[in-house]
Amino acid sequence: MHSLTDLSKRDLEILFDHIQAAIALVDRDGNLISWNSAFDVGKRLSPDVNNLKDLFLQKDSEIIRVKLAEGVKDHWAGEFAITETDAAVLCDFWLVPTMNEKMIFIAERIESEADAENMVDKLRKQVKLFQVESEVSKKLARNKQIEMEAVLAQAEEVAHVDPLTFLPNRRTIIKDLQSEVMRAERYHSLFSISVVDIDHFKTINDTYGHPVGDEVLRHVALQLRDSVRHPDVVGRYGGEEFIILLPNSDSKAAAEQANRLCREIRSKVMRSKEHEMHVTISIGIAQFRLGEDSWHSLLKRADNAMFEAKNRGRDRWVIGD
Ligand code: GH3
Ligand code: MG
Ligand code: MG
Repeated sequence: MHSLTDLSKRDLEILFDHIQAAIALVDRDGNLISWNSAFDVGKRLSPDVNNLKDLFLQKDSEIIRVKLAEGVKDHWAGEFAITETDAAVLCDFWLVPTMNEKMIFIAERIESEADAENMVDKLRKQVKLFQVESEVSKKLARNKQIEMEAVLAQAEEVAHVDPLTFLPNRRTIIKDLQSEVMRAERYHSLFSISVVDIDHFKTINDTYGHPVGDEVLRHVALQLRDSVRHPDVVGRYGGEEFIILLPNSDSKAAAEQANRLCREIRSKVMRSKEHEMHVTISIGIAQFRLGEDSWHSLLKRADNAMFEAKNRGRDRWVIGD
């Protein structure tokens, strides 16, 4: 273990300057030899003073003179101007003799109770501020996340939902069809599809105008969606054409559904703001043929069947071959 005096002058300077306490090296008469930056704060208040004793009030000055003369290690309490704002604060004083007949003087501030309370109060406020800040930033982050999720959900919806009818759009229903084909190929399950087309829809547009046509489209879409049973799916394939996927259903089951749909649409009065009208639909059905059909060929067969239904007079269904 080294004693302080084993350290070089430079080492002492570094050490002392990093200590909050005011430290000065003095001779036995109290003449200042060197001091650290904390001590300098006090000394700057009396720049002409070169003796430790003269930095203190008369009473303390005498005590220091005696202690220096004794030249022994000592420890007591007193007042010293250690900060620039406070004239003098309560300090712990130390005198430590060195081997070369000098003395190290140390003044370490004692925090008063009021100071300590102030400090605790300040800390509490800072902690609270930090908590408030972190709460706010957490909230912001949460809001940001909700916002992001909403945007993503919206993007998802735009990508998958037809804005006029709110049915799955063409892309989505085709994807579902492709999945169904894959499932049938893997598990040898059967399924059918129906292509639904509104009859003489052009006439509705031409007679009542495009907005009324849109209204009718929405009515038909809703009717179809509400009439099919789980797990059947209806999507808008094109202008006034819809696709129905019927998982686990053969063409006979699809035909039963088609029959019901034709009847329901036929018997329903379509109302727009100013008009009432009747609409009919034609349906083409195709059952998936394992090892033969692709989603594309299946759709083509259903489409052909739908055209056949049109040819046979509309408002009916046909099973494709
Ligand atoms: P049919 O199917 O009975 O042979 O006759 P159609 O009049 O329905 O046949 P076509 O396919 O020739 O006409 C479909 C019309 O649907 C043409 C187009 O202007 C209209 N259409 C397509 N998409 C929309 C839409 O989003 N809104 C409206 N109002 N009309 C649409
Ligand atoms: Mg059409
Ligand atoms: Mg049509």
